Amino acid sequence: MRNSNDITLIGAGLAGSLMAIFLARRGCRVTLYERQPDMRSHDLPAGRSINLALAQRGIRPLKAAGVFEQVAGLLIPMRGRMLHDEHGQTRLTPYGHKPEEMIHSVSRPGLNKLLMNAAEQAGARIQFQHRCEDVDFENANVVFTDASGARQSIKSHALIAADGGGSAVRQAMVSRLGVRSVEDVLPHGYKELAIPADANGRHRMQREALHIWPRGGYMLIALPNLDGSFTVTLFLPNAGEPSFASLNTPEAVLAFFQQNFPDALKLLPSLVNEFFEHPTGLLGTVHSQRWHVNGHTLLLGDAAHAIVPFHGQGMNCAFEDCLILDDCIDKHGGDWQKVFADFETQRRPDTEAIAAMALENYVEMRDVVRDPKFHLQKELGFVLEERHPGVFVPRYSMVMFHHLPYSEARRRGAIQQNILDRLTHGVTRIPDVDMQLADELIAAQLGDKRIES
Ligand SMILES: Cc1cc2nc3c(=O)[nH]c(=O)nc-3n(C[C@H](O)[C@H](O)[C@H](O)COP(=O)(O)OP(=O)(O)OC[C@H]3O[C@@H](n4cnc5c(N)ncnc54)[C@H](O)[C@@H]3O)c2cc1C
Repeated sequence: MRNSNDITLIGAGLAGSLMAIFLARRGCRVTLYERQPDMRSHDLPAGRSINLALAQRGIRPLKAAGVFEQVAGLLIPMRGRMLHDEHGQTRLTPYGHKPEEMIHSVSRPGLNKLLMNAAEQAGARIQFQHRCEDVDFENANVVFTDASGARQSIKSHALIAADGGGSAVRQAMVSRLGVRSVEDVLPHGYKELAIPADANGRHRMQREALHIWPRGGYMLIALPNLDGSFTVTLFLPNAGEPSFASLNTPEAVLAFFQQNFPDALKLLPSLVNEFFEHPTGLLGTVHSQRWHVNGHTLLLGDAAHAIVPFHGQGMNCAFEDCLILDDCIDKHGGDWQKVFADFETQRRPDTEAIAAMALENYVEMRDVVRDPKFHLQKELGFVLEERHPGVFVPRYSMVMFHHLPYSEARRRGAIQQNILDRLTHGVTRIPDVDMQLADELIAAQLGDKRIES
């Protein structure tokens, strides 16, 4: 058992910086090691999810860490999905049926810088340009290379690895301890593009929405930024037709956009340059057999359980990790063995559930949203929520606007989907739904206990 207040955190990204705030505020001596230069004084390369959707699950930990008031100034509310069809027609589908049920677009670097500032103000120290290379778990040594390329070894007490989906610490657990870790790479990648603001600095499409151009095997999405621009992301297969491999000339890219996204094409003045200059990102799910070693090392956030981005939950889930880890420290003090073991036991079923739901949502976003049945069931979901508040809560709402564990959201979501399928069988309009049957099914399968918000 180790009892110490000295914490080494790897990765000053979103989870690492937030965790540093929680730890420093409870009096721990925290040092964060980040491989990149300080983004507050250096421009970092573009091309990696410039903005993100923040939901209630991510907001609660930010509030608990005392930083949400500052974060609020970075947010743009998104009240629903704005669907764009092949002819440029649009349709807004609200995310929830209550005014407060919305998500928020936030700049990744803006949020990350704010969290780094808050971590330093709370007393944490950040060492930039320190890349973790390896961990000697037996002797509790972490090996880094610094900006000059020199290698150095640091003795650590408790080591928390928030070094993202490609975690060097997880790789060391694999190579040194034989831990099994599977990285399920999706056959689809992503590329970021930009819709600039208009001449008056205003947004060229509706600002308070997440825009989606669903096209079956692929899709385009756009989230608003505070400066009037939108960050657009194209999700497309890596190989086959059409794919990032097949769109290999400016003509092919333009023809593809003209055919599939004609209204977006008009708003993307630098499409061809950006398409060929911006990197194509990988997407995948990480399943690691273990998250902690000997009460010394713990994987947190994407390092433990990276997921595909289609539920907009990776960061939200990583922030929730920080809050749950902080609760575990409350429970077990500085007994890191117990803290880390309790964290993994509590959290694993939920991260597995959100990983599965994120994959399911990919099909929903790129495909099912085009199906009239989807819209009927969405509407019916809201009607049933009004009839049975807190009992029938659409799965999307349970994940985005509530705090019940992801595994419970998934379990209840499956029951509700069966009820919706049954009620909409052979039905095309809400007035034709058998509401008495709905009430009976809900009472029998969901009971009357309300979920906490
Ligand atoms: C296209 C896309 C869209 C997304 N959209 C959303 C969204 O809308 N909502 C949402 O909630 N989530 C979204 N996500 C997921 C979200 O980006 C991640 O879940 C989140 O960034 C995880 O935070 P993290 O701190 O665990 O990892 P990261 O943010 O990856 O941070 C890891 C940090 O560790 C540093 N690092 C890495 N290796 C080392 C090393 N060897 N040594 C030292 N430092 C190191 C990195 O430089 C980085 O600063 C999206 C992801 C992608 C790819």
